[in-house]
Amino acid sequence: MIIQLQPGISARDREALMDQVNKVGYKITQVKTQAGEYLIGIGKGEFDIRSIGHLNGIQDIHIVSDDYKLVSKKWKVKPTSIDLGDGVSIKDGDMAVIAGPCSIESEEQIQHTIAHLKSNRINLMRGGVFKPRSSPYSFRGMGMEGLKLWYKHAKAAGIKIVTEVMQVSQIEEMHDYVDVFQVGARNTQNFNLLDELGKIDKAVMIKRGISGTIEELLQSAEYVFSGGNEKLILCERGIRTYEKASRNTLDLNAVPILKTKSHLPVVVDPSHGIGIRDYVAQMALAGVMAGADGVIYEAHEDPDNAYSDGQQTLNFAQSALLADQIRKTFAMRKTFPLL
Ligand code: PEP
Ligand code: MN
Repeated sequence: MIIQLQPGISARDREALMDQVNKVGYKITQVKTQAGEYLIGIGKGEFDIRSIGHLNGIQDIHIVSDDYKLVSKKWKVKPTSIDLGDGVSIKDGDMAVIAGPCSIESEEQIQHTIAHLKSNRINLMRGGVFKPRSSPYSFRGMGMEGLKLWYKHAKAAGIKIVTEVMQVSQIEEMHDYVDVFQVGARNTQNFNLLDELGKIDKAVMIKRGISGTIEELLQSAEYVFSGGNEKLILCERGIRTYEKASRNTLDLNAVPILKTKSHLPVVVDPSHGIGIRDYVAQMALAGVMAGADGVIYEAHEDPDNAYSDGQQTLNFAQSALLADQIRKTFAMRKTFPLL
């Protein structure tokens, strides 16, 4: 159960409400976000809304049977729109294109990538400065130095920064330079990190865990929301299956399922999803047709010499073509009444 509280509810009314819900045998968690205040009631058995409906300070009461509550579509039918400022947003009914290298490598690379994005009307740039790598001997990112260089050029160009945060201690130093904090697949269930991201006012994109279920992804998002941050984006980036012909198995089933279960925007990452450069475009467009609100893919001036994930990275010519095809496919999708 979610009880949406009226803005400015008095402490006394809140207490009275909580007492009453406790009496009925429900355990209450208080949630205060930048957008509103909620009481989450968890309990067994039927809840008779009439037992609290007469109390002061309630804006609305919703019975949500899902294990996740605040990210569920059962109470918030209107899709959540992530406004990043300067006219850039990630939202239902729109198509966000997020492109850039796997890793930020140099100032020159940043400048060339931004020029490529600008000339293709792409205003969201991805890139890692803290990289989770399977081997400790691989390139692990330029760190804060890279992020500051990136910020300088991105800000001047009106480009938004999407980058991975790997641990709690990085959030504060990264905060002012980042538009969307990415939680990587290896960190989807790092609950301490999710808790801390709940305390900030920046958007958070959570990738699906490598062996994570759809439900687990939603529960991870619930952590951030219940921590206080409603600005959430879900990302399907492929899961580990028995299939070895591709790096991961992009689970496009997840897209319509997530869109149905949650009010949060959903983006698809075909680069990590299939891991093979020649098939990234197909899977990106399939993701668009599956109902995604955005696509995030890896692009690099010289993919064969990229410091990481070159095998799944598009060159700029391929990226230009794909961005255009993503928009055309999305325009077509909008004309299909069944989708
Ligand atoms: C990435 O985006 O480069 C990345 C490491 O992604 P994931 O966490 O999905 O593997
Ligand atoms: Mn990568």
